[in-house]
Amino acid sequence: MKIAVLPGDGIGTEIVAEAVKVLEALDLAFEMETALVGGAAYEAHGHPLPESTLKLAMASDAVLFGAVGDWKYDKLDRPLRPEQAILGLRKHMGLFANFRPAICYPELVGASSLKPEVIAGLDILIIRELTGDIYFGQPRGRRTAVDGHFPGAEEAFDTMRYSKPEIERIAHVAFQAARKRNKKVTSVDKANVLETFQFWKDVVTEVHAQYPDVELEHMYVDNAAMQLVRAPKKFDVVVTGNMFGDILSDEASMLTGSIGMLPSASLNTRNQGLYEPSHGSAPDIAGKGIANPLATILSAAMMLRFSLNQADAAARIEAAVAHVLASGLRTVDIWSEGTTKVGTREMGDAVVKAITKTITKG
Ligand code: NAD
Repeated sequence: MKIAVLPGDGIGTEIVAEAVKVLEALDLAFEMETALVGGAAYEAHGHPLPESTLKLAMASDAVLFGAVGDWKYDKLDRPLRPEQAILGLRKHMGLFANFRPAICYPELVGASSLKPEVIAGLDILIIRELTGDIYFGQPRGRRTAVDGHFPGAEEAFDTMRYSKPEIERIAHVAFQAARKRNKKVTSVDKANVLETFQFWKDVVTEVHAQYPDVELEHMYVDNAAMQLVRAPKKFDVVVTGNMFGDILSDEASMLTGSIGMLPSASLNTRNQGLYEPSHGSAPDIAGKGIANPLATILSAAMMLRFSLNQADAAARIEAAVAHVLASGLRTVDIWSEGTTKVGTREMGDAVVKAITKTITKG
């Protein structure tokens, strides 16, 4: 088993170091190789995704990714900006399925802006299609309008499109994920207005025939946005297109209180995946040793489960994180009165210690 470790920029290097420490504590037989990505790679090689980094990622079973970006690169031409590295990896590795679990740990119920009774016990999974939809559809661009409300005016346009195989494969991913959970899929669309999403709804319904043990419900995206804050525990697996998923997964992330707690996985058809925290490189706190490493550590757990076939080891990491939170340790983003404030490294050390204890106990 080979893991490409791509820490990236800002807090990326700090949080990935902790996840690597946790992986090493498991004493499993895998090889880890580190490479530059994002702004760090641009500085060293003139490109955010150098050929050598891409080659390493492609040849690995999984990529453990930190975060990329810094405001100082915002003036670079778009293809050279750090964030392009993620798009390049998604494209070359064919990562079409994005998993974002939103779990509310009992100890962090107070960190959410929602009432405790609304989010206590929350455990939902948002599955977002990642390589299609209006984000990639052609044609797109700017032109002079020949019709519409203002013929002759300058206008911009994008194209929303999905092919049947693209919808089928993400639907299969969602039904199979639901089978391992509470056996319910909510497919989010805008079939009342958009042809693309009427087609999405029809194809998801067709695929559902192969999963009679899983319940399927369809929901319009505007209603889904509302239900996510009204009664989020009603959901189990939510599957949707690229743009709706982009928005709903960020909304869901805030249900749990801190973005520093949220892992994510992006998978291709061979279960090769890229695992990263849901947050960015946080330049405002980079180098201060205060970033929360738990989202990255939990992403490493997802990597063990999805790409490396090590479900037991994944569960050990997740149990260690729960144990550390229960013991009252908190990084600054999740700290509250009565708990103990710790830095990035201390949080990583505590997880390692909790893992070592469970390994020793057998
Ligand atoms: P961000 O997620 O980096 O930070 C938002 C806020 O959350 C900041 O106040 C930050 O301090 C805090 N935060 C984030 N992660 C945290 C953690 N682990 N522990 C404690 N606090 C944490 O988003 P942003 O500020 O909008 O973007 C900063 C840079 O990151 C930009 O260059 C952006 O393009 C990039 N970015 C990268 C990714 C990625 O690599 N996948 C994703 C989003 C943003």
